[in-house]
Amino acid sequence: MIPQETVQKILDTARVEEVIGDFVTLRRRGAEFWACCPFHNEKTPSFHIMPAKGSYYCFGCHKGGSAVGFVMDYEHMSYVEALRYLARKYHIEVVESEETAEDIASRQRSESLMLVSEFAGGFFREQLATTEGRSIALAYFHSRGLEDATIEKYGLGWAPSGRSAFTEAARKKGFKEEYLLDTGLCARYEADGQLHDRFYERVVFPIHSVSGRVIAFGARTLRSDKTVAKYVNSKESDIYVKNKSLYGIWFAKNEMARKNKCYLVEGYLDVLSMHQLGITNVVASSGTALTEGQIRLIRRFTENVTIMYDGDAAGIHAALRGIDMFLREGLNVKVVLIPDGDDPDSYARKHTLEEVEAFLASSEKDFVDFKASLLLEGTERDPLRRAEVINDIADSIAQIPDAVKRTVYVDFLSHKFDIRPSALEERLGRTRSKIIEEERRNARRDAQAQAAQQEPPASAPAGAPETAPAAGADPLLESAERDLLNFILADGTEPLLFASDSEFCPGDGEEMPTVFDFIASAVEDDGAAFTHPAYEKAYRAYAQFYDEGLSQEEIVKRLLDGEDRAVAAVAAALSVEERYTLTISGLRNAMMSRSSWLTKYVPKAILVFQEARLEHRLAQLRGELAADGAPVETLLQQIKDMQQMLRKVKVRLGREKE
Ligand SMILES: [Zn+2]
Repeated sequence: MIPQETVQKILDTARVEEVIGDFVTLRRRGAEFWACCPFHNEKTPSFHIMPAKGSYYCFGCHKGGSAVGFVMDYEHMSYVEALRYLARKYHIEVVESEETAEDIASRQRSESLMLVSEFAGGFFREQLATTEGRSIALAYFHSRGLEDATIEKYGLGWAPSGRSAFTEAARKKGFKEEYLLDTGLCARYEADGQLHDRFYERVVFPIHSVSGRVIAFGARTLRSDKTVAKYVNSKESDIYVKNKSLYGIWFAKNEMARKNKCYLVEGYLDVLSMHQLGITNVVASSGTALTEGQIRLIRRFTENVTIMYDGDAAGIHAALRGIDMFLREGLNVKVVLIPDGDDPDSYARKHTLEEVEAFLASSEKDFVDFKASLLLEGTERDPLRRAEVINDIADSIAQIPDAVKRTVYVDFLSHKFDIRPSALEERLGRTRSKIIEEERRNARRDAQAQAAQQEPPASAPAGAPETAPAAGADPLLESAERDLLNFILADGTEPLLFASDSEFCPGDGEEMPTVFDFIASAVEDDGAAFTHPAYEKAYRAYAQFYDEGLSQEEIVKRLLDGEDRAVAAVAAALSVEERYTLTISGLRNAMMSRSSWLTKYVPKAILVFQEARLEHRLAQLRGELAADGAPVETLLQQIKDMQQMLRKVKVRLGREKE
């Protein structure tokens, strides 16, 4: 643990231009700097560094934050790791606050499991030199086209027959039984009560953590005996969480970040053959079906993933399932199927690097094209089936959390199939509501599970407040929210100086509201705030610091320096305010003072926001109305009420007559 005073000292000392300048060539322009963005490929600089604000922002890929955030993104570090990095750079001594006995025990336990695991890796590797290892395992690896350098680099090995060789070696080395059992390397047999090897007579593929330590093994039998499981994998342990590990990640991560792309394959040998050929941004979800945790691990290094599976039915099925999962986590997903009964492993062995690269470049398809070409086959004369396929693709688009991206895909799909965007949007809106409902259910379930694990509460917990309304494909609402947040981040603590005849003017003796208070009372008056998740987070974070009485400058700095990258990016984006045009076209002219500009346009931005939010909710209600078994009368009444409110807002905006 780094003490809070030290954290503050590090954040105050680090200069954003110095920290970024260590990695990127900066060009000065006045008091600011520009560079080609290190996070996406570009030839003209759109990466903007503002020393006065301590922030950076990329107009291309929208990454942004302060010095600490840059180190997190660029070096793929956690918040604490990035703070330590900055402390070293600026020679700030970090005296760690004391660990509890429990912390120490848990750290030592993990370290012991790691040591056992690393010892096992070495043991299995050495077995390749034995007679049995050479004649069976090494011969097998060679038959699969693996070169000695590859075998060594990836630490492949052999678990000998006999069921006790490893256990004996580990005991001799003095490892405790507890750790041998907990890593799943040994098992106690009921018959004799003794420890035995869990992996025997199998070739072994060590699985590395992101930081390169051996944390688990996959082991394959070479027997054709059908009663023996083909693969045995390490069981879960404190150091190995299956659904957060990917085979090959340690060897792939730098190239994934550099190429800004990741290939996902199915098996150990697919990864090894691709890497040996020279394509190293490849990982596999071996041993489990693809999980959210694995997708998030990929996302630490790149947002672009290409699923590379066999072209058989099983491969296609797995690819279809993977697409929606990747989309839901916000990644860009493409698919390439390996033709003619090959898998990535055999294909890599039959072709040169140039051939494989050319094939991947020409054959990978965006998920819309992939689904369309796959599912539309033979539906030319079957309009119903065709409609089903298009709805199916729309449902995939609905998984994408980013509203702007969804809109782009809707346009694309509507052009491709010559369908009205409004028809697609309706379908999308309905699916999106279902997804959000499901996510809420999951969140509630997780919260309940967490609560159940903790001590029983003294009193019954208060019902969780309903969170923000569902965010559908609604760019209008999103930009209205962004406008309000922009006012808050630029001038949240400024007072609004309403004239005495203004409807907003507070009563005698009361203070004028600040920009933040005024917006907060309008946004939150019915318990809801923003629908855009990052805006909502930034808003809540601002509110907390505001309530602590911090100055505007200090609040923005805290948001930029905070651990949450989404909040930092929003704060950085909105801090490049000069280039930021409000949707409400409230450009300030030189004659207008800042405070009269705010007093005029903040109320207007709130009306625009209320209009967008009401329209959005109306669309949702209409969607619900279409669902089977919907409570029609209740919904119709709600729609009517909302239409009245909407009319009032429109009148005040001058869009409708009274
Ligand atoms: Zn960028």
